[in-house]
Amino acid sequence: MTIIQSKLERIYESDDYLDGASYTTQACIIGSGCGGATLAKRLTDFGVDVIVLEQGSYVPAAKMDQREINMVGKLYADRAFATASDSSTTLLHGNNVGGASVHYWADSYRTPQDKIDSWQQEYGIKGHGSAELNPAFEKIEKSLNIHEATDPYFNVINQKIRSASKALSWHGHRVPQARKHCTTSGHCMHGCLYDAKQSQMITHIPTAIKQGAQVFANARAGKLVHQGSRVKQVRVDIMDPALNKPSGKTITINADVVAVASGGYSSSYYLMQQGFKKQLPALGKYFSMNPSTMVHSLFDEDIIQWRNIPAAWGIDEYRQRRYQQGQYKEGGYLLMPNQLHPPTLAGMIPGFGEKHQDWMMNAPKIGGTISWIDDIEDELGEIRLKSNGAREVHYPYGEKTQKVLKDSLEKQVVLNFEMGAKKVLIAGVQGIELNSINEMKKLDDVMLTSAGLFLASPHPGGGCRMGEDPKISVVNSEHKVHGWDNLFVADSSVFPSSSSLDPSLSIMGFSYIAADRIVDTLDGLIA
Ligand SMILES: Cc1cc2nc3c(=O)[nH]c(=O)nc-3n(C[C@H](O)[C@H](O)[C@H](O)COP(=O)(O)OP(=O)(O)OC[C@H]3O[C@@H](n4cnc5c(N)ncnc54)[C@H](O)[C@@H]3O)c2cc1C
Repeated sequence: MTIIQSKLERIYESDDYLDGASYTTQACIIGSGCGGATLAKRLTDFGVDVIVLEQGSYVPAAKMDQREINMVGKLYADRAFATASDSSTTLLHGNNVGGASVHYWADSYRTPQDKIDSWQQEYGIKGHGSAELNPAFEKIEKSLNIHEATDPYFNVINQKIRSASKALSWHGHRVPQARKHCTTSGHCMHGCLYDAKQSQMITHIPTAIKQGAQVFANARAGKLVHQGSRVKQVRVDIMDPALNKPSGKTITINADVVAVASGGYSSSYYLMQQGFKKQLPALGKYFSMNPSTMVHSLFDEDIIQWRNIPAAWGIDEYRQRRYQQGQYKEGGYLLMPNQLHPPTLAGMIPGFGEKHQDWMMNAPKIGGTISWIDDIEDELGEIRLKSNGAREVHYPYGEKTQKVLKDSLEKQVVLNFEMGAKKVLIAGVQGIELNSINEMKKLDDVMLTSAGLFLASPHPGGGCRMGEDPKISVVNSEHKVHGWDNLFVADSSVFPSSSSLDPSLSIMGFSYIAADRIVDTLDGLIA
């Protein structure tokens, strides 16, 4: 018996589903982050009937409480406890309606021109040049109120980093922000209680629903049922939000096209779970994650790094790597102020006992910086499917990457002393402290591999790389999975290489283009 449920004009949650219900739609999108929500918005602009599946919960402002430990549990995938296989890097991504955009910093950069050029010229992708991306960026910047950080967004650490970058003649910029009426509470990473941060949950998702989309929270996509090279149906487990496990209820979605937008850590994993690795050898490969080195520093005055927005000033002087006579010289990362609230700060300050206590007793006076490392193309990582069905994120931290890590730490030490720090602490197991710039030699002892440094990686990409050759890519320039008629991927996992900057706007721009190609496919099915 087919159970058909009447349509709700709000986000569906676990109790709303009838066990065994079946739905039919034109486009089923798996994931509701920047990739999936933007795709839903854009497809509904064209009048396409859409269902969005999101395995996580719907956590609107009314369910937020600004308590870091509660909110990380509610919003972050794996409660933010997952690491790469060598335990060296914390993997940060979303597990909620709106995905990571609900707990991101709202830095909103267009894809740098050098990356757009390289993706076209070196990786051969088509239809994703400035001519296609810029009109999309313009529309998204308008709908997300993206604007350069203004002076009221500058907390003490942002003021210091701006002055220091000017004193050092390191090129910097006001970071573009997706915000409206920001209260500068500093709780961006815990979900915005004021609905000021323009996450997907309060922008593209409500627009898509208004335009007819159905958004299913607590709905994890499982098996893709197909006939030949055509996906026909998605089987869905309804999740128990309290346990974060399947509740036993299931529903099915019959769809003309399916788009996987599960995020950089999950889209390739999802396709591997379907058994696609054999036909798509590049699945999971060419994985990038902008690993981020950090330093903490102690100042004489109060910094209170956890108030106001995280990053108003960014330093792009070293975004691109520089070489001298063929040898790596410096650079390959963006530098930014860091924002850590006391519980995470306590976890990221190395050591135990008295030394740790000394630092944490001075928590209001601690500031610091972070770097987003632009992944090196021949030292990329890989997402793998383990024999027990779990995901493994492997990242090699090769020799070239280690040089960049070291340089990023050196530059952060210079920057923090220029900012007026009295003491600088490298975020890593060894707890290496520098009392002045003259102690730079100490960085020679930093363990740059396997759990030596405390690294975070909130910007995953690759794993379903775009390209025309199915041996070294997973989707073609139309976002269509090689060998399939109606299966698409729309998120950062299609990036041919790391975007080198915070990727949310690039992901959304790509989703605009994916929407055009999906509409073409739907038109083809009708014709
Ligand atoms: C703390 C933090 C700060 C950040 N700050 C910035 C910033 O300032 N600027 C910026 O540009 N970027 C930032 N990022 C990165 C940015 O937020 C992400 O790159 C972007 O939001 C990713 O969007 P996405 O749609 O690809 O993936 P996600 O946001 O991860 O969304 C994918 C969704 O798919 C769901 N899903 C996965 N598998 C399934 C399944 N089988 N069935 C149903 N649903 C599924 C997940 O639950 C998730 O909600 C930050 C990230 C973090 C963690």
